Amino acid sequence: MPTKSFSIHGHFYQPPREDPLTGIIPQEPGAAPHKNWNERILDECYQPNASLHNFEKISFNVGPTLFTWLEGQDPHTYQQILNQDRANYKKHGVGNAFAQAYNHTILPLATSSDKIIQITWGIADFNHRFGHPPRGMWLPETAVDYEVLSILANQGIEYTILAPWQADTDELDPTVPYRVSLPGSSSIVVFFYHRGLSTRISFSAEATANADRFAARELSPNFQQSMEVNSGDQFILVVSDGELYGHHQPFREQFLSHLMDGASAAAGLSGTYPGLWLKSHPVTRTMRIRERTSWSCHHGITRWTGECACTPWDGRWKSNLRYSLNRLAAALDSLYFDTVYPWISKPRTLRERYIHVMLGEIEAEDLINEMANRTLTGQQMRQVYLLLESQRERQRIFTSCGWFFEDFDRIEPKNVITYAAQAVRLARLATGDDLAPQTAADLRHVVSPVTGLRADQVFNQQLAREWEPEQG
Ligand SMILES: [Zn+2]
Repeated sequence: MPTKSFSIHGHFYQPPREDPLTGIIPQEPGAAPHKNWNERILDECYQPNASLHNFEKISFNVGPTLFTWLEGQDPHTYQQILNQDRANYKKHGVGNAFAQAYNHTILPLATSSDKIIQITWGIADFNHRFGHPPRGMWLPETAVDYEVLSILANQGIEYTILAPWQADTDELDPTVPYRVSLPGSSSIVVFFYHRGLSTRISFSAEATANADRFAARELSPNFQQSMEVNSGDQFILVVSDGELYGHHQPFREQFLSHLMDGASAAAGLSGTYPGLWLKSHPVTRTMRIRERTSWSCHHGITRWTGECACTPWDGRWKSNLRYSLNRLAAALDSLYFDTVYPWISKPRTLRERYIHVMLGEIEAEDLINEMANRTLTGQQMRQVYLLLESQRERQRIFTSCGWFFEDFDRIEPKNVITYAAQAVRLARLATGDDLAPQTAADLRHVVSPVTGLRADQVFNQQLAREWEPEQG
């Protein structure tokens, strides 16, 4: 008797909101009565879902920047989420949590070495928190190209999730995962999510008002249709923003809990998750992907680099911001490599391993000493350390939220400018070379279509703030 299995995947993510100079999230009036959005979403979504053990029942990923905040803010909820994956890991040998590329960068827009850094950091972050390696990784905005998939496979990632329109076919079977072949005889499994059900669960409040009705009338019929053409076991994946459950839609944590605990079984369906499904279902069908596509822009990945109908205002600021920050990133890399190369024979590896310093697993000085090809003076050590901190900010400047919305004059784009200013400041402290004039000149062309605010104004304001690095 073929089985009908399904999984709900929640993508849980908030961009970094911390001021890089203070490490503190500024007051966000829109989030009242809470101090900021993170605290409000914690109250409405993370705490109730963790209390109901929903993180044990669904498939999920939590962005590293959100995890970092949650760990400090609410250690209890943080531990509950980790333990709920670990319970599955202990029972089945494979957990239900996915890792996520670290800074929510649109990876097809990143350089090859940035792709490697983002994926390496995401895996290290997952290992650090969950205590076992990840098998699946969530790609920010599911933005993909073959190089990204190859890096995932090289790093031991076995599967990812994409939107159905990212498959290179118009006749996708939504009840099976596919294998995507990669150069060098490697491959990766892709779960293409169910378009109709994911749209319903995400955007129709009535669909998630009653779990019994959803299981019987929405989930179940999608299996029956496909049963006629496919007599094997079937698996349907329904994907949404995880904060839907309780934050975007009040009390939907109850919907989720009942769907997984009683409603689906009553409808003849069994809840599972991608890693568990793969244990007993080898993937035989193959698929090619459409490169430079994503789940929340129907124009490929234009939303994060230029004008498209997703954000129908004057979007010239987006391409100018992308151009300016790409130029800055290249200049920061030159400073980093030129400075550290005489002392560190593998500067790329050092940068990739710096995540272990960020996670508190090793002291910066110990890592730098280990990677250095000679004994460094105190001054040289400080230079390498400041440049690594600058590189950390350099990664943050590509947080995709900076380009997601219509306007430049809002917190997310201004935050990436703040990180850019901090990267420039750290590089200047380390080397004496000042990238500020060139960067400000480029950022002058990033203008809010609404208020006329320019990115160079934000940048200069940030650089004018007083700040001294800790003695590292
Ligand atoms: Zn678009």
